[in-house]
Amino acid sequence: MSGSKIWISTAQVANRMLILARTTPIEQVKRKTDGLSLFYTATDRSRVEIRAIPKMGRHAVDSNMLFIDNLEVPADDLIGAEGDGFRQILHGFNPERILIAAEAVGLGRAALRKATQYAKDRVVFDRPIGQNQGIQHPLAVCWMNLEAANLMVMQAATLYDAQQDCGAQANAAKYLAAEAAFSACQTAMMTLGGMGYSREYHVERYLRESFIPRIAPVSPHMILNFIAEKVLGLPKSY
Ligand SMILES: Cc1cc2nc3c(=O)[nH]c(=O)nc-3n(C[C@H](O)[C@H](O)[C@H](O)COP(=O)(O)OP(=O)(O)OC[C@H]3O[C@@H](n4cnc5c(N)ncnc54)[C@H](O)[C@@H]3O)c2cc1C
Repeated sequence: MSGSKIWISTAQVANRMLILARTTPIEQVKRKTDGLSLFYTATDRSRVEIRAIPKMGRHAVDSNMLFIDNLEVPADDLIGAEGDGFRQILHGFNPERILIAAEAVGLGRAALRKATQYAKDRVVFDRPIGQNQGIQHPLAVCWMNLEAANLMVMQAATLYDAQQDCGAQANAAKYLAAEAAFSACQTAMMTLGGMGYSREYHVERYLRESFIPRIAPVSPHMILNFIAEKVLGLPKSY
């Protein structure tokens, strides 16, 4: 097996990796997504070069570029039926979106908590800055957006748990939660003024981290494409 892939999490420490590989040539399949198989195989470092990517946040896990050169994968490492790998990998997409969305809601709530506390504590010209509606209103909007996003997360999770179709809700939850989290982190930064830029209050770190649920595992633009085409039935843009 040979190929390359960027942005692979935890490859510095992983003993095994999940690989989706073409096992039937593309000319011999009806749809491009047919003929792919899923393997769970050893990360043989003599055949897999792993290069860490320097990045702006998410330092709890490493992110990497992988270059796979003639890696031999035992047939026993196949997961499920041969040629059916794409369908199997799709199965994991919705729960991953729901999980990331829930994480984003938590991140946004943490930023909002810090900002609200700071607005109560910080006194300028003898009054807390949180007494100004110019400070209050953006925080109130963040709360509403986060809680609304959380309801979509819960709806998606409920459908998933009931083994019902949840693609639209899982994607919508990921989009809404990530945007709400980003907005809450940005609002927190501005609420703290100069101290938002200092590491002491952590909100600069939250803001950096809020880009991950926006970008990965799927970008906001691709979610909008999905909702427009699959949910609203609009013509494909490509
Ligand atoms: C820290 C981090 C960890 C990650 N971890 C993993 C991981 O463990 N495993 C993994 O597989 N991936 C991982 N990713 C990859 C991540 O899922 C992708 O970066 C993400 O899906 C965006 O794809 P891309 O980088 O190829 O962007 P591109 O496809 O190059 O797109 C660039 C920009 O153009 C926009 N764009 C592209 N096409 C269209 C279109 N048709 N319409 C409108 N806009 C468009 C995109 O939305 C995006 O904003 C990780 C990424 C990061 C940053």
